[in-house]
Amino acid sequence: MMSSRKVAVVGTGYVGLVTGACLAGWGNSVTCIDLNELRIKRLQRGDVPIYEPGLEELVRENTAAGRLHFSTVLAAGIAGADCIFLAVGTPPRASDGHADLSFLFAAATDIANSLAHGSPAVIVIKSTVPVGTGDRVEQMIESLRPGLHVRVVSNPEFLREGSAVADFEGPDRIIIGGNEVNAVSQIRRLYAKAEKSGAAVIVTSRASAEMIKYASNAFLATKIAFINEIADLCELTDADIGDVSLGMGSDRRIGMQFLNPGPGYGGSCFPKDTLALAKSAQDHGCRLGIVNETIASNEARKSRMAAKVVAALGGSVAGKRIAVFGLAFKANTDDVRDSPAIPLIRTLQELGAGISACDPKAVHQARLVLD
Ligand code: NAD
Repeated sequence: MMSSRKVAVVGTGYVGLVTGACLAGWGNSVTCIDLNELRIKRLQRGDVPIYEPGLEELVRENTAAGRLHFSTVLAAGIAGADCIFLAVGTPPRASDGHADLSFLFAAATDIANSLAHGSPAVIVIKSTVPVGTGDRVEQMIESLRPGLHVRVVSNPEFLREGSAVADFEGPDRIIIGGNEVNAVSQIRRLYAKAEKSGAAVIVTSRASAEMIKYASNAFLATKIAFINEIADLCELTDADIGDVSLGMGSDRRIGMQFLNPGPGYGGSCFPKDTLALAKSAQDHGCRLGIVNETIASNEARKSRMAAKVVAALGGSVAGKRIAVFGLAFKANTDDVRDSPAIPLIRTLQELGAGISACDPKAVHQARLVLD
């Protein structure tokens, strides 16, 4: 029989909300905390502000069962918690592309100032963060509250938007990074159901856990950039990229996934994570040539898309009306962050085209960023 834990999740976005709802679904008592009052008010009414298949039902079911709560007050939300997940955003820093850790450090400061003395809570970093961030969070809390002795564990998340609930509930692997055995076991127990269903659990150091997340995303991004470059070459020859992808992907060592050519990878993870990894390598005096080239190749592809449309329309799009199917960065999500559709549409508009765009889930988000 699984024991139920009291869990707090700080940051109630795609990752935080899915984490909170799924952990509640496994029988834990969960409070999701966010600074965004509107978001929390909506969630308290059972109105789920983001689209993910199965998420709304899961949130409603667990809220009704009294296992899932929402709050804007961090101190109340973390009171008595066994584990506190940090799932705030780590977007690229506008000035230099490094991961912006200001939200994470602000949340950690709040936790340090609110945690009861003697609290056994394990702090779990779920946000994607550069190597060494767990150490910095631990040191920060220790210096703000000497003697609190917090235990910080890295537990990066690999869910994909569009299938986030299924991915969280049935992951390929669960990475737990930490050097304090009890803290690691506590987090491992939270995932007992997923482990029982076959998920591999990899226990490692905090630094390795942090690196695994970036290295995984950079590898997948590289796979996409690679097939896009092969697609370019196919266009100049008689080869068919569909057949080439199928032929390559049928080799189990290569695999079908992330081998579909398209307008370049986007979304809230690959672009920022590849950049953050490259920047962090630079800081360590290490050149990640393949990652750098992946970033450049993807950027070039995104900007070439408009030129392809212009060429297909006889050299000019001025005064023409163009239909765009798909605004999100991929199917089954409403997330338009770094979606290749957005710069494509903007460029076509600048060139004088009128756009009619359609997306089954992302129209309301796209309206916020497009004219
Ligand atoms: P998001 O922007 O959807 O959500 C972040 C939330 O954190 C926001 O609602 C924001 O208001 C809240 N927040 C910020 N500072 C806060 C604070 N001090 N206290 C409370 N709430 C605060 O972000 P996301 O897409 O869920 O990503 C979160 C992290 O998970 C990032 O590091 C991301 O790289 C990583 N990640 C994301 C995905 C994904 O598919 N979206 C997958 C794996 C990992």
